[in-house]
Amino acid sequence: MHWPVGNTLSCLQWTVRDLKNDISSQAAPARRAVLRGLALSGLSVAVAACGSTAGQSATAAGTTAPTSTLPELPKTPDGALQRLMAGNERLLTNKALHTQTLEGIRQHATGQSPYAQVFGCADSRVPVEAVFDEDFGDVFVTRTAGNVLSDPTVGTIEYGVVALNTPLIMVLGHQNCGAVKAAVDAMKDPGKTPPGALGALVSALVPAAREVKDRGDDIYAAALEAHIRKTVATLEANPVVKESVAAGKLRVVGAAYDLATAKVTLYQ
Ligand SMILES: [Zn+2]
Repeated sequence: MHWPVGNTLSCLQWTVRDLKNDISSQAAPARRAVLRGLALSGLSVAVAACGSTAGQSATAAGTTAPTSTLPELPKTPDGALQRLMAGNERLLTNKALHTQTLEGIRQHATGQSPYAQVFGCADSRVPVEAVFDEDFGDVFVTRTAGNVLSDPTVGTIEYGVVALNTPLIMVLGHQNCGAVKAAVDAMKDPGKTPPGALGALVSALVPAAREVKDRGDDIYAAALEAHIRKTVATLEANPVVKESVAAGKLRVVGAAYDLATAKVTLYQ
């Protein structure tokens, strides 16, 4: 396995890619064991290598990373969920704490230990760190339009579980999601399905739209909830996720963000 030099982000990109390459030829029963083994050995090396490379870059640039003063992050599913929701409450009440400073960024340069994963929509109005009033390094974020899963996306989330030990995965949809609306429209009239890869994305949401086809005026909100719940169920059935959930180390939750109020509401 090749560990390239570069900054932390490029290390992560290479790590995930190499991980996918390495396990792509593995039979399904062996995949989880490979992931766990990489998490305990190779991936931890990769994370350390990323950190040390970033540190060397800072030194080479003539700067000194300040001593970390970051607060302890939660390690349990309940603690992680409580912290996320508390951050959203700070945003709602105009008490947000976090602003990005170069000093703060440098404090995260030597490694990452996010306390939660959020799988969100790519919509530009749902920036996860701002929604939860969090800082660089706090949340491991994956986003696709309409919260549609694919193999590389699932691989990214698995990385968060096995290599970063995140105790929480939140699937965060949002009201007035364009991808969900497109799926409802395509469900009503298949001729409205877009061509190409965009059509594939919209088609992935159509089953959720079909589940709520008789909901009338609130069909878009109902389709969103149905899709988020299905996505949570899909992740909970993933072997890597399932094992951590069974061990009490991980929880998967669904939630929706309101574009107008900034409020995150959990699907109970
Ligand atoms: Zn959306």
